[in-house]
Amino acid sequence: MQFRDLHAQYEALKPEIDAGIQSVIESSGFILGKPVQELEEQLAAYVGRRYCVGVANGTEALQLALMAYDIGPGDAVFTSDFTYFASAGCASIIGATPVLVDIDLDTFNMSSAALEKQIRRVLDEGKLNPKFIIPVDLFGLPANYPEIEQIAEKFGLKILEDAAQGFGGQINGRLACSFGEISATSFFPAKPLGCYGDGGAIFTDDETVDARLRSLRASGKSPLDKYDNREVGMNSRLDTLQAAILLPKFRAFKEYEVDAVNRVAERYTEALKDLVVTPTVPEGYLSSWAQYTILLQNREQRDAVQAKLKEKGIPSMVYYPRGLHRQAAYAWMELSDEDYPNTLQATDRVLSLPMHPYMEESEQRYIINSLLEAVK
Ligand SMILES: *Cc1c(COP(=O)(O)O)cnc(C)c1O
Repeated sequence: MQFRDLHAQYEALKPEIDAGIQSVIESSGFILGKPVQELEEQLAAYVGRRYCVGVANGTEALQLALMAYDIGPGDAVFTSDFTYFASAGCASIIGATPVLVDIDLDTFNMSSAALEKQIRRVLDEGKLNPKFIIPVDLFGLPANYPEIEQIAEKFGLKILEDAAQGFGGQINGRLACSFGEISATSFFPAKPLGCYGDGGAIFTDDETVDARLRSLRASGKSPLDKYDNREVGMNSRLDTLQAAILLPKFRAFKEYEVDAVNRVAERYTEALKDLVVTPTVPEGYLSSWAQYTILLQNREQRDAVQAKLKEKGIPSMVYYPRGLHRQAAYAWMELSDEDYPNTLQATDRVLSLPMHPYMEESEQRYIINSLLEAVK
């Protein structure tokens, strides 16, 4: 059994994907070829932004977004403590300081109360300039933008949406990748919309930021001359082959995959809700289910359940085993567990179950029955 069955998707879309790859090879337009521009236009229209810039991966999408706003040494960037490392690493690598914020245990997303507390602490200390909030749409569920936007406004901060896992999610009909000043996503194979290697994209409504990003992803080149470098940028372009692979996958994503994965989630929740803590999707929100993550009672039960599932041939994952405040890379910050009670609960108790739009009901029934047995 696969945790996320990418091959089932390939089987469903094989003729289109193969033709897309073949046409790139025939055209020899390997760098920023036509499919990149076509995909950028389609993605921008879908999420409701004016511009989309395809880049090499989600990590660099976040980094380039911050670079486009001249974030650097002395700046504070607030992000979730319970996320993949890149949500904070994107700030560190350009010399800014990530400030880690505890989560709400029901949504696994940034806590508004903890965010406000951390902003006030940084202001009181007076060492760093608060600049950006990077809310993370963890496991496919958009962060609490209605509240976070109010906090951003109150303190004069900008928002960079980390939608690496959130592509396809919604709040009251507004799509992920449209929140805040700027947003970033990833096409890593296992993400809701994944390619066959690395890929990412940045979204903005600002024409100047769009132009700057197109320059920054190509070594700071001027719009007209590749060898006229205006500033120090990166080599971080979305590969044409990956764009060609993404075009048919994006069509399937829009047409049926988001619905299909939501049906899988509903079946899990219906069957499991009386025995374990199932994911919360707040009123008006839609998740694109990058992960279906339950909470067990404690670490012992979580580890035992995972071991029993493994015996039955069922893969499961612990996303994530430690909060960023406990990462060795951030040991120098000397952060205390006391500020991250909900991250600690989550890292002890979470378990993500196999989940993808092509999951058969019979396979899911086997997972559910095995889990119910393991929990008892
Ligand atoms: C995957 C991920 C990233 C980074 O994306 P890559 O394409 O792997 O570089 C950033 N943030 C979050 C929350 C992610 O899950």
